[in-house]
Amino acid sequence: MPVEALGPYDKDNIFARILRGEIPCRKVHETEYALAFHDINPQAPVHVLVIPKGPYRSWADFSHLASEAEIAGFVRAVGEVARMLELEAPGYRLLANAGLAAHQEVPHLHVHVFGGKPLGPMLVR
Ligand code: AMP
Repeated sequence: MPVEALGPYDKDNIFARILRGEIPCRKVHETEYALAFHDINPQAPVHVLVIPKGPYRSWADFSHLASEAEIAGFVRAVGEVARMLELEAPGYRLLANAGLAAHQEVPHLHVHVFGGKPLGPMLVR
């Protein structure tokens, strides 16, 4: 079910529970500001999710409310994941769904990192 980009943060969403260690994930990378783990339903040979540790629902509230340190830490973590997974030379795709029109399903900001094969054109037409 898609969720709205704005609104109160649901502290019991699945990624909040992963951050609290209540449910497992296949961790790729962790910093003070971000956690990266493999998507449970991969859409490419490499499909990793990077999430900020703070309680942000989507790019909308994160870009508006997060501190400079949180934003820098999160963006750097996304780049570090791509580097660690050796995706920089072949190339990779970043995707962040925000809200209903984008079919965001989990109400905690996440950036998808896709790679491991030629990914084709950007959107399904
Ligand atoms: P989105 O549609 O952008 O909100 O994407 C949510 C993503 O979270 C989907 O690709 C799901 O496969 C993924 N996902 C949902 N639950 C888990 C989980 N427990 N561990 C890893 N990935 C998950």
